[in-house]
Amino acid sequence: MNKKKSKTRYEKHLVQCPHCKRDVLDHMTQCPFCEGELHPKYTSLDPKKIKKIRGVLTIVFIAIALMILIARFN
Ligand SMILES: [Zn+2]
Repeated sequence: MNKKKSKTRYEKHLVQCPHCKRDVLDHMTQCPFCEGELHPKYTSLDPKKIKKIRGVLTIVFIAIALMILIARFN
């Protein structure tokens, strides 16, 4: 295990709080130091939404596969 590497990975997720200028993690929506509002780069998608997107993608994929099959037979 490389300790230095993991630290760098952790530091990648550090952003500066716009309110108190302290280091906070980029997924946080609220600063733990000043309780100011933060705007994370990525918000965690809720599982229901992911499931829905995955379902739509599956349908699209099947539709494309069918179109290719139909095109082959023509
Ligand atoms: Zn803050």
